[in-house]
Amino acid sequence: MWKKLLADLQLSILMLVGGMSSAFIAAFSVYRFYNGNVKVGVLDATISLAMVITLQYAWRSPLHAERAGRAMVLVNVVGAIASSELLGVTGAFWMYLAIVANCFITSNLSYATAANTLMLLVIAFLGHSFNSTAQQLSFLATSGLLTLFSYIIAGRLSEQQAILKRQASIDPLTGAYNRRRMEEEMHLAIEEYTRSRMPMAIILMDLDDFKNVNDKHGHEAGDDVLASFAEMVRGHTRQVDRFFRYGGEEFLMLAKGLSPEEARHLAEKIRCQAESALTGRHGTVTVSAGVAGVMAGESCMQWVARADAALYAAKQSGRNRVHLAD
Ligand code: GH3
Ligand code: MG
Ligand code: MG
Repeated sequence: MWKKLLADLQLSILMLVGGMSSAFIAAFSVYRFYNGNVKVGVLDATISLAMVITLQYAWRSPLHAERAGRAMVLVNVVGAIASSELLGVTGAFWMYLAIVANCFITSNLSYATAANTLMLLVIAFLGHSFNSTAQQLSFLATSGLLTLFSYIIAGRLSEQQAILKRQASIDPLTGAYNRRRMEEEMHLAIEEYTRSRMPMAIILMDLDDFKNVNDKHGHEAGDDVLASFAEMVRGHTRQVDRFFRYGGEEFLMLAKGLSPEEARHLAEKIRCQAESALTGRHGTVTVSAGVAGVMAGESCMQWVARADAALYAAKQSGRNRVHLAD
């Protein structure tokens, strides 16, 4: 469970905010019933239950977290408006919590801010919570400023997070995604295949006799070849494809929507291009590749292992060729 939470920031924020809020609100619900305030007790119990259902939906798949976050924003908005109507000023206090929470439980900040603005306008102008204009104006000023600050701070944080995420998932020498990102993307691809049966293929590529390049021309020349190869492959990559550095002089392309045969064609094209793109003072560097389409029920590692076996066969049969996995 911790592993899943640590791996997904969005999910962990949603679980933390939603989990704690639903527990607190459930406790308040008991308190309201105890004091004979049945209406508010029912409202609190309903909000708490809606939060638990949303969290359960988010937990089922990483693809659900964003949708669940947006649903939770709606629960917060409706809950805060209803509380302020039933409890007056005391209920309106809950809105402050909702304003901040909404900016962090969805990555769509415009959606959260629109919901927050609507919520504070409804409470301020259509609701009946305030006893005086001064109270109403103070509420508008404080909730308006909190909405603005939350928008700015959450926006800055998500920008920083995007930069860090990018830095943490890219190999600096070649600009290809790294292996950690590869595992994440392959898991998602397997899930997508299981759901929609859209074909998925991987091409595992390994530069031939690369040790010779380093030995004869130096490590720097080797680095140049790796960077040129990555640049050339990117030229063959569609928007939906992903290109990763698997390790050393091995690269992997995840081709979504391609059958194994189509992926083999693509690999063949890359192999041919490599011969001309990787010719220079170090001679000609060639590439061998193993291609495997995903199979129902297999894990990420099993899928890579089949591509690796095909790559091994390509090496064994003389290098500079493409093999399709069984
Ligand atoms: P094969 O055709 O069987 O793949 O032979 P190979 O020489 O390519 O394979 P081997 O595994 O023996 O050697 C891989 C070489 O790749 C050894 C290592 O020094 C080099 N290498 C791995 N990472 C880098 C890197 O980042 N930069 C440079 N310059 N060389 C690297
Ligand atoms: Mg090699
Ligand atoms: Mg190798």
